[in-house]
Amino acid sequence: MPPARPDAPDRLLVAGNWKMNGSRALAAALAQAALDAARAAPEVEVALFPPAVLLPLVSDAVGAPRGPVAVGGQQCHPEAKGAHTMGIAAAMLAEAGCRYVLDGHSEVRREYGYDDARVAAAAEAARAAGLRPIVCVGETRAERDAGQARAVLERQVDAVFGSRSAPLADADVAYEPVWAIGTGVTPTPEEAERAHGWIRARLDAAGAPRSRILYGGSVAPANIGGFLSRPGIDGVLVGGASLEAASFTALVVAARAAAAARRRP
Ligand code: PEP
Repeated sequence: MPPARPDAPDRLLVAGNWKMNGSRALAAALAQAALDAARAAPEVEVALFPPAVLLPLVSDAVGAPRGPVAVGGQQCHPEAKGAHTMGIAAAMLAEAGCRYVLDGHSEVRREYGYDDARVAAAAEAARAAGLRPIVCVGETRAERDAGQARAVLERQVDAVFGSRSAPLADADVAYEPVWAIGTGVTPTPEEAERAHGWIRARLDAAGAPRSRILYGGSVAPANIGGFLSRPGIDGVLVGGASLEAASFTALVVAARAAAAARRRP
């Protein structure tokens, strides 16, 4: 087991991004499963990111924002209010019980035109509303094959955390290689940790050494242990495997085992 980092977070985070999936019935079942899993694994932080219309149901079910399961939005608008049809303001998410908000998921960047500047503006809006943004970064397959992964990640991280007069405290990063999302193909834990190291160096330079870096992309019960065995990986952001109670519970159980292994001398 490689040595622990001095700035390592207190708890590993297991975050489930439901994307545009679910119904009231499924949301209730998944929320209950997350609650049971979180209660059995207090060393792990559990967070759910349901579609916006299901947020009130999920927040009520898990007792957010004070209960053992955190809730988050999938994206907030950079503006606080106004004529932005379909937009969801950060304050609305906070009022719905959210503690977190994903920002700049690759699907949001691709489908809704969130470029680096807009992702940075949304992170500011989230912080202004008291939310903790989880900024998603990741290279495409073409960028990786062209040897540009590091430059892409540094650009995406710097756009949000760098070139600021004050550090963006209370924000996290999810490294999600675009080619690994929903494909069943992943980097090795060592490859992921190397990318986390590039991101960590930029966060340190930006004065955000305590920001967590999650890994995301085809995380499943069979591979989570490998990722969480690496001290540079502070948790996971999970899509597909968060949509089934048994697999999400298995992820939390595995994270608990990883947390225990990290504490062993
Ligand atoms: C995601 O899109 O955030 C994600 C990690 O999806 P999946 O786990 O399905 O690859």
